[in-house]
Amino acid sequence: MNQLKSDLVVVGNGIVGAATALRIKQDFPHLSVLMIDKEQSCATHQTGHNSGVVHAGVYYQPGSLKADFCKRGAMLTKSFCLQNNIPFVQCGKLLVATNELELTRMEALAQRCHENGITTVALSEQELKAKESKVSGLGALHVPATAITDFPKITETMVAHFCALGGQNLFGAEITQIKEDGQSVRINTGQHLVETSALVVCAGLMADRLVRMMGVACDFQIIPFRGEYYRLAADLNDVVKHLIYPIPDPDLPFLGVHLTPMVNGTVTVGPNAVLGWKREGYSTVNFNIKDVAEMLSFPGFWKVLQNNFATGLKEMSDSLLLSGYLKRVQKYCPSIKATDLKPYPAGIRAQAVLSDGSLVHDFLFKETERSLHVCNAPSPAATSAMPIGEYLAAKAAEKFRL
Ligand SMILES: Cc1cc2nc3c(=O)[nH]c(=O)nc-3n(C[C@H](O)[C@H](O)[C@H](O)COP(=O)(O)OP(=O)(O)OC[C@H]3O[C@@H](n4cnc5c(N)ncnc54)[C@H](O)[C@@H]3O)c2cc1C
Repeated sequence: MNQLKSDLVVVGNGIVGAATALRIKQDFPHLSVLMIDKEQSCATHQTGHNSGVVHAGVYYQPGSLKADFCKRGAMLTKSFCLQNNIPFVQCGKLLVATNELELTRMEALAQRCHENGITTVALSEQELKAKESKVSGLGALHVPATAITDFPKITETMVAHFCALGGQNLFGAEITQIKEDGQSVRINTGQHLVETSALVVCAGLMADRLVRMMGVACDFQIIPFRGEYYRLAADLNDVVKHLIYPIPDPDLPFLGVHLTPMVNGTVTVGPNAVLGWKREGYSTVNFNIKDVAEMLSFPGFWKVLQNNFATGLKEMSDSLLLSGYLKRVQKYCPSIKATDLKPYPAGIRAQAVLSDGSLVHDFLFKETERSLHVCNAPSPAATSAMPIGEYLAAKAAEKFRL
């Protein structure tokens, strides 16, 4: 067994772990900081399988961590991209209302944007057509601040800066055991025994498992929701100039199937939100006995099913039948045909659910005497990674007297 020692360990080489480790190393250069990830490279999971959208902060409850971190995160992401020559394209977003109910919901969203200090412009049917000739709706909300970027590239760059400052990285090291006493934390990866004074865990889809590994009572569980995408055929790469989103159902945490121009010039369609049977299962058929057994034995899972039965069933049928999926995008972009939808890799969202079946909407953190845990960091956590990192660095400084 390889013995290692470090002042502080950050688990997770996704964008949240990378932003946190970098911020800690920048603020406390004298500390030895070690990043650990079970994969061989960074951004392997959620960070490497998302829409690449730098959200402006349209949807989030005013005063929530999401509202604050997302808005500041968008600004910090923009300057990080500019400083590091990473693509950042401020193409703006159109939220398209296709019926009277959506028009009412659109007004509520405009009001929320106003409360969150985000500039929007309400467009009539004709103004929408003038901006996007292939998009149809009764009206739309234009959010000019929304942008697109390359989150894996941002993560790699943050890790490179972290290493340049003297930070260490341990890849291919899956943490299977963590023991904490008043003085230190001992982390076992099977091949390495790492001793540290302080631990910050940003483990995404495995967040609950790492909390429970420390013997902490855990009132939530991560439920994986697959986000399945298609890519539009290359001759449709210029079908839209803006990000085109539906008006979401305010009771659901997911934003609906959208058209997303990517920084590489392609356009993705998606993601939907289907219950996953494997936390890290990206292929078409996925099943993991441990993941499923844990989910079925969690009371919150059954309550989520009960509360969202019709929605869940519709998501599943539209996932299985291309015609169902297609209808969602044809609702606002009628010219897209089934043959235009090409395969594209899925992503898996780590969504924390409480045992009473409620989905945790805001970012959620937990702590023990010598550790801090990011327990719920779904979208827009890629946009918000830098403020999350700042928050954790400040919390670590106070808690661990760095
Ligand atoms: C389909 C989809 C679309 C999205 N779209 C957007 C978007 O457009 N804009 C946006 O802002 N956000 C978006 N998000 C959300 C965003 O991608 C995530 O919130 C963000 O990437 C979370 O980053 P993370 O670092 O917390 O998690 P991850 O990227 O999942 O990283 C967690 C890391 O922890 C490691 N790990 C876990 N367990 C262990 C262990 N036992 N030992 C060692 N290492 C471990 C994993 O290997 C992994 O590398 C989307 C997410 C999905 C799934």
